Formats: sequence, structure tokens, C-alpha cells
Amino acid sequence: MNTPAYILDEAKFERNLKILADVRRRAGVKILLAQKAFSCFALYPLVAKYLDGTTASGLFEARLAHEEMPGRENHVFNPAFTEQELAEIVKWCDHIVFNSVAQWKRFRAFPGLPSAGLRVNPLYSEVEHEIYNPCAAGSRLGVPRSHIAPEELEGLEGLHFHTMCEQGADVLARTLPHFERQFGDFLPRMKWVNFGGGHHITKKGYDRALLVRTLRDFRRRHPHLEVYLEPGEAIALDAGTLVATVRELIDYGTPIAILDASAECHMPDVLAMPYRPRIVHAGEPAEKPFTYRLGGPTCLAGDVIGDYSFARPLKRGSRLVFEDMAIYSIVKNNTFNGIPLPAIMLKRKDGSLETLREFSYADFKSRLGAI
Ligand SMILES: *Cc1c(COP(=O)(O)O)cnc(C)c1O
Repeated sequence: MNTPAYILDEAKFERNLKILADVRRRAGVKILLAQKAFSCFALYPLVAKYLDGTTASGLFEARLAHEEMPGRENHVFNPAFTEQELAEIVKWCDHIVFNSVAQWKRFRAFPGLPSAGLRVNPLYSEVEHEIYNPCAAGSRLGVPRSHIAPEELEGLEGLHFHTMCEQGADVLARTLPHFERQFGDFLPRMKWVNFGGGHHITKKGYDRALLVRTLRDFRRRHPHLEVYLEPGEAIALDAGTLVATVRELIDYGTPIAILDASAECHMPDVLAMPYRPRIVHAGEPAEKPFTYRLGGPTCLAGDVIGDYSFARPLKRGSRLVFEDMAIYSIVKNNTFNGIPLPAIMLKRKDGSLETLREFSYADFKSRLGAI
């Protein structure tokens, strides 16, 4: 097998889907795949077996769902749609969420407009990292209650909020009272609500009983509403790896392994979030006898994944397996420095390994001009 390569794990992916389908059934809600976290469409038929459809961050993801998950619900949200985009979206989507009253007023009479909702900002979130906090001061995402005149909502069928990131059911339970206190008077005339993503439902230790209880209680208070969740991360959590190979070793006082995988290009959230990815059979620095700093093959000084220790010395050609790389890595990767994109492989339930896609020089060049 050539590296670097992402390996999706069908069995682990399906395990997540089964957990989500169980929540869906017990809570009586609908669950959508947020494609921005995971869009490897080879697995969309499996998603369609367990969930209700997808949500998109804009035109292209909506089209992807239309092509690769036909017949299931196709929702779309964008901070600001254009008229050209709307003309396409009305062909593909059954639900659209507008980010501002200005957008709603501008497009409310658009021919063929699907069921429309408004993203609101309940001004309550427990996300500490500002770049992931849609309720931060000055946020452009969602309309605060004080900026909505009730008569402006005429014709809207849904309300949407997305205020969470990798969080538990307790956070949703604390958020809902804020949402209902501020927007509850609009709910009788709505058909649906969408509580966004950021629900870490498939994470070990997540309190699924509390989620189900919270959702059922909400539905009891508002029995006429269809309730949606649209997690991304929870669907592909821990369902894929990135396999890399050590290209070279150097030591100027700090032993360093230079890999063929790059933090900057192939796991950008390691630097953006930032976080430390787990590596199979590796430990914290000095936990095992041989510690290395792991760096990527780019010119970026900060293209460093972190310091890890191993039971045996790394050698040229040693393989490293980075865990939990199905989410927010494949969809965000790039060819900075002309670094090749990792292949995308799929480990089927029967253990066989399928190559979904390999990339070449043409993929790099074609993004930069006519070829
Ligand atoms: C990011 C996002 C999601 C998915 O979030 P996860 O953290 O991956 O669950 C869902 N809805 C909206 C509007 C988002 O921006």
C-alpha cells in the first residue's frame, strides 16, 4: 500500500450509524449527516440505510447529496446565498435555512423555494474556543431575537440553531431553555426545528439517555414540530485513519522523524484546532523508550504533528497510523507545497481493502490553471 493514505473503516462507521439510528428511533427525531465533516460518498448508501438524509454547507455539498444519496432529505444552510446558487439549490434541496432576515426577505418568493427556515442565535453556548463559537460577540451566524420582528417570519416553516462543538447532551439540555425562552413564541407557527451539530453522540461516555430524554421532553412541549439533529463528527468519529511512512530521521538534539504525511496538508485541524492526534502504539513523550518529534514534508516550520514515544526506534520506512482521521481531514486537505493528496481507501466489513481514489500530479496542477 502506498502512503500517505486515509483508510475508512466500514464496520466502525456502521457502528456509529447504529447508535445514531437508535437515538433517532427512541427520541422520535430525524438525524442528518452534516457533509462538511465527512463527504466520502462511497459510504452514503450506508448512511441512507440508517439516517434521514444530509445537510449541506452550500451549493456543492447539496449537489453531492442529490447525486449520491438520492431520495433522502437534502437540507442546506449558507451564511449568504446568491441568486445563482438559489436557482440550483431549489432543484436539489427540500429544506433551506437562511442566515439572516435580509436573505429570507430577498428570497422568500423565489420560484420553487423549498421549506424554509431561519438560523437563530440564542446567544448561549459553552464553546470556549472563539473560532468555533457561533455565539461569540459579533458573530455573523444566526439572528439574535432582538433583530427579528415577528411579522417578518410570515411563511417560514423552521427555526435552526447550531451552537455546539464536540459537546454532551447536558449542553443541549442547558441550551434549549435559552432557545425556548427567546424564540418559543414563534414555535407554534413552525413545522420543524433543527438543533444543529456538535452533538458528540457516538463518543464514549456520551449520555445518550439524557439526549433522548431531553429531545422527548421538547417534543412533548411542542408536539407539532419535527425535530432535526445534524451531527457531522459523530457520524464518522473514529471511523478512519491516516497511514504515513517515515521518510527520514534527523537529530540535532531532538530526534525528528520526517513523514510523508503533513499536519498542514493532510490533518489541518491538528494545527487549526489545535489538537494532538492519537497514533496506534505510540505514547506521550518519554512514556516509551524512544521519543521523536513528528514533522511533515512541507517547508512550513510549524508543520509538526507533535512529540510521541515508541517502544522501538523508528526507521526509514516505519509506518505510523494516525487515528480518528475520517472527520474534518479528508474534506479539508490541500496540496500546499505541491504535496500529494493521500489516497482514500475503504476497509470493508469483510476485511478487504478497496481503493476509492488515488491522486496524482494532475490533481495538483488542475486546481491552479488550465491543463
Ligand atoms: C459544523 C456544523 C454541523 C456539524 O457539526 P459537527 O460538530 O461536525 O457535529 C452541523 N450544522 C451546522 C450548521 C454546522 O455549521
